[in-house]
Amino acid sequence: MRVRDRYPGYIAEGTMSRPCHQCQRLNPAEAAFCFYDGVPLANGSSTNGAASIDFSTWAFPRPFVFPSGEKCHNFLQLALACYRHP
Ligand SMILES: [Zn+2]
Repeated sequence: MRVRDRYPGYIAEGTMSRPCHQCQRLNPAEAAFCFYDGVPLANGSSTNGAASIDFSTWAFPRPFVFPSGEKCHNFLQLALACYRHP
């Protein structure tokens, strides 16, 4: 529990954290996607309001292929692949 001492205010409970509806993990308030599984986090108040276009799942014209052979077809997959292959 020394993390909170080194990063005061970064890991806070309640309103400062956004729980993932998929894995229930808490993410920073400014996070748009879950750090664990990449699931888009609900944008504040409600999810059934004015919906924005979800660019993360828009398919690329051509898949982005990593040297390992892993193919990414959208920004969400690309982000996760970058996380796995730093
Ligand atoms: Zn999650």
